[in-house]
Amino acid sequence: MNPHVLFWIPAALRLAFIWIGSAVLWYFFGPIIGLLAGLVFTTAITVSQLYYLSELDIWLDSPRSERLPNGWGAWHAVYAHLYRLNRNEERGKKDLTEWLTRFREAMSFLPDGVAIMDNVQFLEWCNPMAEKHLGLNLERDQDMRITNLVRNPEFIDYIILGRYDKPLEMTFNDRRLVLQIIPFENRRQILVTHDKTESVRIEKIRRDFIANASHELRTPLTVINGFLEVALSQPDMDRETRLSHLQMMKEQGERMQSLVENMLVLTNLESTDYPLKREEFDVHLLIRQIVQAGQAISNGQHTISLELDGPQTLYGSMDEIRTAFTNLVTNAIRYTPEGGSITVKWAVTEEGPRFSVRDTGIGIEPQHIPRLTQRFYLVDKSRSRKERGTGLGLAIVRHALLRHDAQLDIESEPGKGSEFSAQFTNRILLP
Ligand code: ADP
Repeated sequence: MNPHVLFWIPAALRLAFIWIGSAVLWYFFGPIIGLLAGLVFTTAITVSQLYYLSELDIWLDSPRSERLPNGWGAWHAVYAHLYRLNRNEERGKKDLTEWLTRFREAMSFLPDGVAIMDNVQFLEWCNPMAEKHLGLNLERDQDMRITNLVRNPEFIDYIILGRYDKPLEMTFNDRRLVLQIIPFENRRQILVTHDKTESVRIEKIRRDFIANASHELRTPLTVINGFLEVALSQPDMDRETRLSHLQMMKEQGERMQSLVENMLVLTNLESTDYPLKREEFDVHLLIRQIVQAGQAISNGQHTISLELDGPQTLYGSMDEIRTAFTNLVTNAIRYTPEGGSITVKWAVTEEGPRFSVRDTGIGIEPQHIPRLTQRFYLVDKSRSRKERGTGLGLAIVRHALLRHDAQLDIESEPGKGSEFSAQFTNRILLP
């Protein structure tokens, strides 16, 4: 049956009841009583209708389902209908709000910035990464023109010219950004920002590395070529001069070899395709071997002492730790004049085990210390060349340690000596 018929039945019954009741009263008590009763009943019904109408009017001011009034008769049906409609709308709104919250959450995890602009390039919304890249603040900058917010001539030209087929690359707030505008419905636009500062930095490091490496290799090659030319142009050179030239060529060849070896080690350490091979090893034995090798290099010119108080077993790459520790010990020997002393210590600290090498050598001026671990960085080029330094040793140490969550601490005083320490965390003690 049509539900609207049910809606009419109680109302019709009520009216019929009033008319019949009034007619009965008219019959028994005369027309005045009958008419009066009819008037009273219809007034009561009209007042009740007005009451429900005013309740509805009040509810419409703030239409929340739980505050919907209770009705009687046809009003009950009307209120029930309104309740269902309102409930559905509330549910729809809740779903939409939840979906929007999830969408914003997902957008906040994007590594790129996203901003939405209306047809006249006023900012409608942006994610936190766009705020970071473009120095925006959504709360403060919403509904403002993007060209007033991102004050960069290249960006403003890009927007004014409207040639969005190609992205724009620009430097903004010390970041190298790539921006792309994508028009969509109703001439609104999405602005996507990508930060390539890090990749530009890595590219520069790579270029510098190649330039430095070529430069470092060219020097010994030039020396070798020079000697070879002399040897070719003077076939009758006396034996002594020839031997001295050969000796110098050999030294340059060795220098090239150690450069290439160090470059390979460093490249391997930096490569993400070269995972850390963790193994259990006896670090006391390793340090003793390194100190023994150091004594052989020093050849009795230094007093080398050893204090082994730290843990005996470590879990890490023994080869990489050997390379790092050996570099620190050989540096101490190379940069400590004859008669100096070197102390190698393996100790425990609150943070974890610590390997340190203290020497009474030439020391380092404070301004050089932060740059010592950069590739090819030499404090005193002429001295290091003589010592056959490549400027790669400490870069290798830093990378090998980083791969073991350890850091290199450097303390030094010119003329007094230096202490280079590898501070590990306790993680190195666990398999
Ligand atoms: P190199 O192969 O030239 O020694 P490193 O990267 O090992 O390269 O060291 C970089 C620079 O740090 C060296 O040129 C040297 O000046 C300085 N240095 C390293 N260790 C010491 C030390 N124990 N005492 C003084 N200077 C040092």
